[in-house]
Amino acid sequence: MKVLVTGGAGYIGSHTSLVLLNKGYEVICVDNFSNSKMESVLRVEKLTGKKIKFYEADVCDKEAMDKIFSENEIDAVIHFAGLKAVGESVSIPLRYYENNLVSTFALMEAMEKHGCNNIIFSSSATVYGNPASVPITEDFPNSTTNPYGTTKLFIERILTDYAYANKNFNPVILRYFNPVGAHESGMIGEDHKDIPNNLVPYITQTAVGKREKVNIFGDDYPTPDGTGVRDYIHVMDLAEGHAAALKLFEKGNCGLKIYNLGTGRGYSVLEMVKAFSKAFGKEIPYAIAPRRPGDIPECYADPKKAYEELGWKAVKTLDDMCQDSLRWQTMNPNGYDD
Ligand code: NAD
Ligand code: UDP
Repeated sequence: MKVLVTGGAGYIGSHTSLVLLNKGYEVICVDNFSNSKMESVLRVEKLTGKKIKFYEADVCDKEAMDKIFSENEIDAVIHFAGLKAVGESVSIPLRYYENNLVSTFALMEAMEKHGCNNIIFSSSATVYGNPASVPITEDFPNSTTNPYGTTKLFIERILTDYAYANKNFNPVILRYFNPVGAHESGMIGEDHKDIPNNLVPYITQTAVGKREKVNIFGDDYPTPDGTGVRDYIHVMDLAEGHAAALKLFEKGNCGLKIYNLGTGRGYSVLEMVKAFSKAFGKEIPYAIAPRRPGDIPECYADPKKAYEELGWKAVKTLDDMCQDSLRWQTMNPNGYDD
């Protein structure tokens, strides 16, 4: 099976490409390096001993997408390409709407022209807004609090409408909870251009002395220890989730499918800092800071549907997430620039 991975040089795309190559899939990647480097692709090739057919192009570029589909008989697409920084999306919303939506239109147009009906789309738990309760099942109501989240919800709706009109079209929407960790080799991981906004890279950078302390955003939430609770999922488990979803296409038409990819277990910010300190063998300094605007108290998945229908569940432990994140950080203090 030939799989086109858009955004394949990025964090989740590189780990998923590695898993697919190891399972014998042919992988074709397209990326414009707006948030990544070729080095991740080279390292995936090195780790797997297999080649990736790589296109440096913008997925918004219709001609480039047409060329990729003309040159390859693509069976399925995994659409990771997109801008993903929540805070930045509030400052430059047009850029987010344009990049995330236009790329999806160009991709779907090329898929339609070349008769490719199978797509896995990277969505996010952000489409559940501030959920009324936890754990979250796929039928919870949707809402968003920032332009990034709105692009995800719009794309979900576009895929849904298109599937309604085209009965052979099979969009599989995967809603990720909080991806963390890295491949166990420490060779690939999440590369940060700037100061990270997310908790885990901030913790690992603090552990190795790049940051002074972790600021815990709020300790007065209605959670057991007052700090925010999230469902952290190892990126390798997430990658396996995509491989499990691809199997749906091998069975024939599946139509529209939506799955949560999470562990089903929430950890608080304080629990995360403590788990990382234990894995690192040294206390990681932290301080309580004000709440971050827009944050919700608690968010974790009910991942039962993915288990029942895809046979997939997360198997990595919190300690795996800590060890693998710290290994990537230690081996690559400046990301792929090293
Ligand atoms: P990433 O930024 O590491 O990867 C995205 C890749 O897409 C990058 O390599 C970037 O250069 C590329 N890209 C962006 N726009 C492009 C375009 N127009 N043409 C070609 N390439 C383009 O991000 P990631 O963490 O790997 O996330 C992958 C997907 O998963 C994104 O769609 C993101 O919104 C979604 N997602 C991520 C998280 C998370 O916390 N990492 C959570 C939920 C959903
Ligand atoms: N968080 C924190 N300090 C940080 C970054 C994040 O306390 O420097 C908290 C944040 O308030 C949330 C959790 O960690 O409760 C996860 O935040 P992250 O930005 O990683 O993911 P989100 O769930 O917001 O997408």
